[in-house]
Amino acid sequence: MCASMSKHQLTTSSSAYDYPLIIRHLLRTPLTQARNQEIIYADKLRYNYSTFNERLGRLANTLIKLGIRAGDTVAVMDWDSHRYLEAFFAVPMLGAILHTINIRLSPSQILYTINHAQDDIILIHADFMPIINEIRDSFERDIRILSLSDYETLLSDASPNYKFPDFDENTRATTFYTTGTTGLPKGVYFTHRQLVLHTLGFISTVNWTSGHGGFHSDDVYMPITPMFHVHAWGVPYSATLMGVKQVYPGRYEAGALLALIEAEQVTFSHCVPTILQMLLNHPRAAHTDLSHWRVIIGGAALPPGLAQQALDLGIDVYAAYGMSETCPILTAATLTKTMLAKSPEEQLRLRCKTGRTAPLVELRIVDQNMNDVPQDGQSTGEIVVRAPWLTQGYLDDPVRSEELWAGGYMHTGDIGYMDMDGLVQITDRLKDVIKSGGEWISSIELEGLISEHDNVAQVAVIGIPDKQWSERPLALVVPVDAAQADADSIRAHINGYVDQGLLSTWAIPQRVEFVTNIDLTSVGKIDKKKLREKYAHANELEKD
Ligand code: AMP
Repeated sequence: MCASMSKHQLTTSSSAYDYPLIIRHLLRTPLTQARNQEIIYADKLRYNYSTFNERLGRLANTLIKLGIRAGDTVAVMDWDSHRYLEAFFAVPMLGAILHTINIRLSPSQILYTINHAQDDIILIHADFMPIINEIRDSFERDIRILSLSDYETLLSDASPNYKFPDFDENTRATTFYTTGTTGLPKGVYFTHRQLVLHTLGFISTVNWTSGHGGFHSDDVYMPITPMFHVHAWGVPYSATLMGVKQVYPGRYEAGALLALIEAEQVTFSHCVPTILQMLLNHPRAAHTDLSHWRVIIGGAALPPGLAQQALDLGIDVYAAYGMSETCPILTAATLTKTMLAKSPEEQLRLRCKTGRTAPLVELRIVDQNMNDVPQDGQSTGEIVVRAPWLTQGYLDDPVRSEELWAGGYMHTGDIGYMDMDGLVQITDRLKDVIKSGGEWISSIELEGLISEHDNVAQVAVIGIPDKQWSERPLALVVPVDAAQADADSIRAHINGYVDQGLLSTWAIPQRVEFVTNIDLTSVGKIDKKKLREKYAHANELEKD
C-alpha cells in the first residue's frame, strides 16, 4: 500500500466495536421494534418474534447437543416453514453452514449434493424420508438424520439461552446447488457479509421508486419461492430485518395458498411465472380479493399475458432478475412516477422488462471480447456482472469457477440490451437462443407475444434443428380450451405483430404444437434443455 494511503487509514480505539456484517445482527431491529409481530406456519402454528428469538437459542442448543460445531454443515429438506426460517438464522449464527437441499432433484442428484457439500446432519421432513432411505447406503460419511417430526419436542426440551458469538463476516453461511444447464449440480456459496448486504440491497431495490411496489414494515409477507431456491431469493432475511408479519405456507397447493393470502391478508410475495399462473387459474382466485397483493416475478421472464391477467385482478406485479449464483438480486422492474403516468400498454411493457440494476450492482453488456456494446436499447450482448453478493466460484470446482468468472466478471449466460435509462431487457439465454438462417430469433419475445393469445395458458418456444435453416422455432402451447386449439389462429395472432412491425416474418414459428403440459425444471421454470432434447428430431420426422 502506498504511503499516502496509509496516512488515511483509520486508527481504531482499542475499545471500539468492529461491527461484523453477520446474520446475528439482522435480528437487532426486529427485536427492539417488532417483538409482538407474528410468524405463522400455514394454519398450524403462530408465534411472535420474541418466541422466534428464543427458538433460535433452542435450535442452537439442540444442534450443539447433537455434536454440531462451527464449520460443520447442516442440511435441511423441508417445505417452506417456520422451521426453515429458524435454520436460516440459527445454523449460520452458530458459525455452521446451512445446506438447503433442493427437494425436487432426482434422488441421485440429491445424493451427489449431500456428499459434495459434506453434510454432517440432515433435518428432514417425513415426506422426504423415502428419498433418504433410497440413497443413505451411498453416503460417503457418517451423517445424522434428524426427523422434523421430533423438532418441536427437541426444541421444547432445549434451553432458549444461547450466546451466539461474533466471528469473521467472511465466514461461509450457506451452500446450495444449481442444476444449471449441463453436467452435475454446481454448488454456490455465500458468506454472512454477502447475505447481510443482499438483505439491505433487496430492501433498497424494491423501495427505489414510490407510487407502487415497495416492501415495508407493515407488509404481510409470504414467499411462494421454495426456501431451497436461493434462500427464497433472500427475502426472508429482509422480512425478518424489517420485523414484518411472515407467513410460511408449507407445501404449495393453489387453493391453500389463496386461502392463506385471504386469511392473513398477505400483501407481498414473489414467485416464478408458473406459480402465479397456477394461482390465477385456480377457481378460488375469482373469489379472492387480490387487490392488495404485490408480487415480484423472477426466475424467468414475466409474460405480458400473465402480467395483464394479474393487473386485471388488481395485483401490483412486476419482474426482477437474478440467478442462483447471484444471491440472487441483480435488477428489478419497479416503475418510476414518470413510467406510472404512461399508457396502460406501456406500463405493462415496463413491468415485464428485466428492470434496472440494484444498488452496487455493476451490470455490463458485452460482446465476445468483453467489449461493452452500445447502451442504445437495441445492441445485445452477454450480461456480465459484479456485485458484493455473488458466489465467488462453484464449490470445489476450479475449472467451472474460472469459466463463471472469466475476465473478472461473472458471466450470466443471458443475452440482453440496456437502454439509456438503464433499463435492461433480457432477450434470450446464450444457451437458449434460436439462430435461424444466420438470424437471431428471441424465444422469450415470441413466448411473450403468444402468451397474449386468449387460448394460451402456457407457452414455450424452443429452437429445433432444421436441415435447411440450421434451426427453426417450435412453439409448444398448453391451450386454455383444448377443443378450440387452432395453430392457424396462433399464427394469425403472431402475424398481427408482424403487421405492426414488431416482429420479423422470419420469427413466425411454422410449427405450433398443442400439448397438455410443458416440462418444468425442479424450480418450476420451463425446462428448455429437456424440451430441446425431446423435440430435437421433430423437424426431421416431419420432413422424412
Ligand atoms: P436460476 O439460477 O435457476 O435462478 O436461474 C437463473 C436464470 O433464470 C437467469 O440466468 C436467467 O436466464 C433466468 N431469469 C431469471 N430471472 C429472469 C427474468 N426476470 N427474465 C428472464 N430470465 C430470467
